[in-house]
Amino acid sequence: MQGKIAELRLAALQSVQEAASVQELRDARIRFLGKKGELTQLLRSMGSLSAEERPVFGKMVNEVRDELEAIWDKREAELFRQEEEQRLKAEAIDWTLPGRRPNIGTLHPITLVINEAKRIFTSMGYEVVEGPEVEWDYYNFEALNIPPDHPARDMQDTFFFSEELLLRSQTSSVQIHVMENRQPPIRIIAPGKVYRADADMTHSPMFHQIEGLVIDEGITFADLKGTLQLFIERMFGPDAKARFRPSYFPFTEPSAEVDISCIMCGGSGCRVCKSTGWLEILGCGMVDPRVLRGVGYDPNKVSGFAFGMGVERIAMLRYGINDIRLLFDNDVRFLKQFGR
Ligand SMILES: [Zn+2]
Repeated sequence: MQGKIAELRLAALQSVQEAASVQELRDARIRFLGKKGELTQLLRSMGSLSAEERPVFGKMVNEVRDELEAIWDKREAELFRQEEEQRLKAEAIDWTLPGRRPNIGTLHPITLVINEAKRIFTSMGYEVVEGPEVEWDYYNFEALNIPPDHPARDMQDTFFFSEELLLRSQTSSVQIHVMENRQPPIRIIAPGKVYRADADMTHSPMFHQIEGLVIDEGITFADLKGTLQLFIERMFGPDAKARFRPSYFPFTEPSAEVDISCIMCGGSGCRVCKSTGWLEILGCGMVDPRVLRGVGYDPNKVSGFAFGMGVERIAMLRYGINDIRLLFDNDVRFLKQFGR
């Protein structure tokens, strides 16, 4: 019996030594000293001993138990301290490390120009509307006085889904949607994406336009000129002048193209304006009576004007960007220059 106690004591001491963590130590303690532990089992076997042997044996077991409990307590305190130290080390914060700066996004130049145009036109009482990018031939061409055999269709290389369905090649299609659903007075702008099969330094297969439409009684070309002059001054600065040149669009009559005085040289002539002092900026005109009749308006009662401008073109002029592809590459180093 004494041999058994000594054996058990040695085994217990060894497991104390081997325990690598507080948890392992506690498990070992339960194994040896717990209610169902090995030492308790040994105590239970006392029944087989004689009356003289029992108290001696009991005393020995209790002494070993006290000794082991003390050793366990001491080792557990040590291990606990070690683990705590390691944890604090791992969680330590290095106050000398420089902070990580959050990457703050900026608005794209296209968005900046659209936002600015919205601000200018809404301040003049315009409403901002949208239309579908996948469009019927009717809205993109026919209702805008461009029948199937019209030569103006060659001016635009359109992406067709089918004979009737296409990606809109101009935001002018929104004019028809608005007029079909409302009665004058109408005063809207429609910014959005348009698509044409064209790509080089100054053309992208997807680009942005802002369409404008005003319909009311007594609207004249003078209203159109005044509106666009004001827009140009606000978009390009008070010194920017506007020049109207006669032009042709199927859905306006008369039509005009509008130039602004070159913002690079102020009109004296440079490489950007090809020494003319002027830069083409948008197309416009009085809404053709055929278009008005097509949507059920009476051209004898109401009249109006429409205009359309390329957003990329305005952004390139405003920010001095010489390649349209820079606007679509999404290089953050480039885009950051314009954000706020
Ligand atoms: Zn110039």
